[in-house]
Amino acid sequence: MNRTQIVQDFEWLHAHPELSYEEFETTRYIRAALTEAGVEILPYPLETGLVAQVRGPQPGPVVALRADIDALPVQEACELPYQSLTPGKMHACGHDMHTAVLLHTARLLNARKGQLRGTVRLIFQPAEESGVGARKILETPALEGVQAIFALHTSPLFPVGTYGIRPGAVTASVDKFSITIRGTGAHAAYPEKSVDPVVTGAALVSALQTVVSRNVAPEHAALVSITHFEAGKTWNVIPETAFLEGTIRTLDKADRELIPRRMRQLAESVCAGFGAQAQFDCDFCSPATDNDPAWCEVAAQVGRAQGLNVVTDPTSMLGEDFALYQETVPGVYIHAGIGLTAPNHNPSFCVDEACLAPAAEYSAALAAAALDKLAQA
Ligand SMILES: [Zn+2]
Ligand SMILES: [Zn+2]
Repeated sequence: MNRTQIVQDFEWLHAHPELSYEEFETTRYIRAALTEAGVEILPYPLETGLVAQVRGPQPGPVVALRADIDALPVQEACELPYQSLTPGKMHACGHDMHTAVLLHTARLLNARKGQLRGTVRLIFQPAEESGVGARKILETPALEGVQAIFALHTSPLFPVGTYGIRPGAVTASVDKFSITIRGTGAHAAYPEKSVDPVVTGAALVSALQTVVSRNVAPEHAALVSITHFEAGKTWNVIPETAFLEGTIRTLDKADRELIPRRMRQLAESVCAGFGAQAQFDCDFCSPATDNDPAWCEVAAQVGRAQGLNVVTDPTSMLGEDFALYQETVPGVYIHAGIGLTAPNHNPSFCVDEACLAPAAEYSAALAAAALDKLAQA
């Protein structure tokens, strides 16, 4: 079978996975492919990732398409002729699909640029898996003048040809908290001389479960997961400190403020009740995606016109730094079916190559339709 250009790109990218902020070969590949296609690359000082654009004959509105390009520290379990050549690294989230699709979208748009009613900016973003690679792009003028932004993401829940679109939040805000409990250490045989951070921490873990169950409205999705609890080094010493950390995830903006506030109150008051001190810290990483309803309608119409089966996307408590772009520009985060396979980040995650060419056609049509809508407004 004659492998098309997009399949060649995809297989090369799949075989050469690179982790967040290390996407040097990937960036070189993208740059070479765009240069060969005659696509304009913008001179932004990005170490990895790049931004390109395709301009129509007249000045007009600007829209953006975004692909993330990084891979994960996962050992691939799929046996493919083009499987990962790097032990312990794999495109287990399908960002190779996103990159190949955006590259090919650039070629399609470039071939049709005579009909474009404005400019399409193509964002190849590094380090999505690190949680905040979008910030590197936001430090450049990539979004200057951009009035709408779109991204595709692989979905192993949908067959090829099915796309999920949903207004509002599709993925959750991702925040990281830590709590250090400071007590008083003692010999394990003299508990009365200690302020035991292990017992205090155990009570605090239980108390923190009530934030979602008692403070958040039951119809809102939210979670607090305590994933790391560390204290002490041996069996006969009550330690002086305990350390807890984990993640807070919400779909609702008000819940995102409420939950850490309640957690801090509980940490301080539970610890005070035991005679210990609490230090609560929260790192606000990325907000929930916030799909614009009017642009969702455009994205769905274009999908149906392309013969895709457009369904309502389910929400999840996963994170996505595309939400950082949506803080300043309205846009849509779309799930593209890649065939039913293992979940994202699983060693057996595998993209059906049949999804590739239609996804590039869809992206090119969506960008052109968005420009038409803005040019008419
Ligand atoms: Zn991922
Ligand atoms: Zn991903």
